[in-house]
Amino acid sequence: MLHQEHQSEREAWQVVATLEEAGHEAYLVGGCVRDKLLQRGLYDYDITTSALPEEVLAIFRRTVPTGIKHGTVTVLMERDQYEVTTFRTDGEYKDGRRPEEVVFVRSLREDLARRDFTINAMALGRDGRLHDPFGGQEDLQRRVIRAVGDPVQRFEEDALRMLRAVRFAAQLRFTIEERTLRAIQYEAASLQRIARERIRDEWHKMLLSSPDVALQLLRQTDTLRYILSRPPTFDLPVHDPWGYGRDPWELAGEWMGRAPEDLAVRYCVLFIAIQTDEARLERTLQELKLPTQMKQDIKACHRLATQDDKPRGWSDLEWRHLFYQYGYDTVARVCQLHCSIYEPGQKGEWDTTLAVRKAQQPLWSLQDLAVTGQDLMANGVPAGPEVGKVLKRLAHQVLHEPELNQKERLLRIVREF
Ligand code: ATP
Ligand code: MG
Repeated sequence: MLHQEHQSEREAWQVVATLEEAGHEAYLVGGCVRDKLLQRGLYDYDITTSALPEEVLAIFRRTVPTGIKHGTVTVLMERDQYEVTTFRTDGEYKDGRRPEEVVFVRSLREDLARRDFTINAMALGRDGRLHDPFGGQEDLQRRVIRAVGDPVQRFEEDALRMLRAVRFAAQLRFTIEERTLRAIQYEAASLQRIARERIRDEWHKMLLSSPDVALQLLRQTDTLRYILSRPPTFDLPVHDPWGYGRDPWELAGEWMGRAPEDLAVRYCVLFIAIQTDEARLERTLQELKLPTQMKQDIKACHRLATQDDKPRGWSDLEWRHLFYQYGYDTVARVCQLHCSIYEPGQKGEWDTTLAVRKAQQPLWSLQDLAVTGQDLMANGVPAGPEVGKVLKRLAHQVLHEPELNQKERLLRIVREF
């Protein structure tokens, strides 16, 4: 993995070198510089350059004009692809959303100034020089998220930045600098203008990093209501359903942080911690515009987790039935959820239990029966709906008595029916 990252970085520098050789300025910029300084894993390398998009297109052999209007060209190299963006400032902001058009500028500094946070507003040259006009390096050391420039103005320009601030705080376990934090409180309502899908994407990154940090900041800044429900219907549960003397949202953050990095599990842990009923869950998932499959996964997991006894109490037969009825993924999620809430110390044990139970499962669907519909018809079952009914009865029997799943034994049962 490390080797691969290294390779991509070498290639990113090749892109920078090529631009320089053509007479332009070019730097690594933004997230990759931040993550490099933090010695975090690097995923994508963004390059900023003085070359205009047409010039970038002309310099490299394989390119995709990804976002020409915004100055972004994707350069395809041998092993990876790199986004090369012309130095720019953002044009007119309308309604706190991304600008329609951008203005290309001459200097790196102007380009860095349009970026959201100081830690994201650094550029690294091939000569090893760090361009850091806003104190990003110092903020990295202090572990703070600080807006570049006046935070209120920056959030008015683009309200999504407020959620990006929380998201970075959660991913890096940083704090948000005081003035920036107050600006989020002040500007929170502008989030109403942001597309639900963009909000959802930031929210998911929060859920998958440090949800405890995220929830705490979202509540402190009163932005949570723009994620989970539209105002003014959002009501924070103030009671203490768990009798732990703890706030349910605090428990939610803690429990989610212990759950595997699986969105469906984390959503269910959240909904259970804050005691969401099915109707509210449905509405929330709808509002968040989750993909259909994800919605189904979450609902199945939530239903099983809230309706059935806890997995500790499942008999052999119940395990088999639940695997058959819900499928492996949902049952596994319910176990992981149970473990992260009630038995955080037992993760290894639960992984083993799941693996053993999975290996023992005799039947996941009718296809796993040792007989087919053809076999049944050859043995006197009339073609038509009867075939399906008999197959289901056989499946039921096999779940009770797995040893029965052999062709001869099943056909004997069929003849007895
Ligand atoms: P990651 O990719 O790890 O989520 P990143 O910092 O690379 O983090 P991107 O969304 O990929 O984030 O954006 C790349 C860079 O573009 C950022 O580092 C920042 O400099 C700039 N940027 C992105 N979104 C905004 C925005 N809404 N406002 C201002 N600058 C932004
Ligand atoms: Mg990025």
